[in-house]
Amino acid sequence: MGPRTASPWGAAEWRGHRVLRKFGSVRVALVSEALVGLVSLTSAAQCCALCLRRLPLQPCAGCACFGYCSDAYRQADAPDHSRECAAIPLLVKKLSACGSHVWHRGDALLDALLSARLLRAGHPAESLAASLASPLLGRPKALEAMLQAPALAIPVAIARSLLEVAAEVPQLLPERFRHARLHQASLELVIGVLMQMQCNMTGVVEHSCFESVGSALFAEGSLANHDCAPTCQFLFRFREGARPSLELQCVRDVEAGESLCISYGDLARPVWERRRNLQASHWFSCKCAKCMKDLTPSGLLKQLESVSDPKGQLLRSLFERSLPEEAEAAKMLQVFKALKVPFASTSADAAVSLALKGLAKLEPLEKRSARSNLRIIQGSLAKLLPAVHREAVILQELQSLALSTAELAEDFSTVLEMAKELRARCLERYGPFHLKRCFLLRKELAAHEALGSPATEAAEAAEAFEKLLIRLGLKDKHDTDSQDTGLAHSEPGIDLDTMD
Ligand SMILES: [Zn+2]
Ligand SMILES: [Zn+2]
Ligand SMILES: [Zn+2]
Repeated sequence: MGPRTASPWGAAEWRGHRVLRKFGSVRVALVSEALVGLVSLTSAAQCCALCLRRLPLQPCAGCACFGYCSDAYRQADAPDHSRECAAIPLLVKKLSACGSHVWHRGDALLDALLSARLLRAGHPAESLAASLASPLLGRPKALEAMLQAPALAIPVAIARSLLEVAAEVPQLLPERFRHARLHQASLELVIGVLMQMQCNMTGVVEHSCFESVGSALFAEGSLANHDCAPTCQFLFRFREGARPSLELQCVRDVEAGESLCISYGDLARPVWERRRNLQASHWFSCKCAKCMKDLTPSGLLKQLESVSDPKGQLLRSLFERSLPEEAEAAKMLQVFKALKVPFASTSADAAVSLALKGLAKLEPLEKRSARSNLRIIQGSLAKLLPAVHREAVILQELQSLALSTAELAEDFSTVLEMAKELRARCLERYGPFHLKRCFLLRKELAAHEALGSPATEAAEAAEAFEKLLIRLGLKDKHDTDSQDTGLAHSEPGIDLDTMD
């Protein structure tokens, strides 16, 4: 089998996981332990720094930033945390201007601390960790050019902050990083590790709210390749006294010889945006079968129907985005023009620019302004709904924003309405076993509870949630029904191909 995606090393090398026998859907095909992992700054007050579970915490007296669910876990993390505790307030101060959310999903402090943990661990060159994908691996000359790229401004800032703080808190980094004359070499090393993290780290989704609470790096897990029609999803197993482990769970039947692949991005996005985002986050141009099909003229026309914002104006106003592939976006627009797609004059386009005006008035998401923000978003939705296709990505983007804003505004009937809408769409796009459905069902249940809905209304959501949790193996089945729950841990049947 050839490479499913173009790798930074060229097409000659293929690495990833291939199954040697069939795995049914929701089967766990691979279990992987974390090399490093840590709670994110935003979740540190609620989730244990070691096991990432949402439990009552004893905060660290030193930094008052991280907490542990037990004294034993604090001691287990002490070899690492004792070296970073004094550095945390200094790092927070230096990194405050560093908007790493536009770089990848982590926060800058998490990136800095995890890269320091990786550097202190000093993985030997022949280990799996050392062979983690990186756009810099084996390409020392590429570094100089990349350091100038706007997309690298954030990792460069994180690396500089880390080295500056290590000058004041020497135990933060190994001894060789403290020599001033080796500063440039140290900087390049730290940036290299940060790039490996960007390409391989994954957000850890916990199972009470189905939201990401931290990040971790899984050696075998990170060898799962990307595909825009993935065979697997990541699932996390939370345990006593240890970091969560990662499971690759099949989202459909996977035949012998097929590859275990996941999606590194949002599958709801149109092909040009998916490819642009993957280029920015993982430094490769996706050539999967789905992308190739979506890039044909008929595929593009179909995609256009689901977008209604072909220039991405609305998306850009919602999120700060890096756009390294402007050239590709321009090429797409040319194709649309050649196909004589009148997107620039459709009613959808007019509705999008109207919505854009409304959204320009949005203040940052704060509890204080949540109610007025919600009215603006609902106004935009009302203008868009009659003009765009039901599948339009733009509609879902606004509905997601309405959901989170309604939560802040404590408008639970809107939360319920948006979660229901998004859940129906999620089923169509991602299939029945996706964790996003858990996230939305959880929101629906909370809204029913807050609204005091009649038992019959809440029961449907509760039953669907329960069934999905059992099906995904996130909850035990209590009855005596002998039906297969689909759980199978650590089964043999994996062919692990690593780069030679
Ligand atoms: Zn814990
Ligand atoms: Zn501390
Ligand atoms: Zn693709």
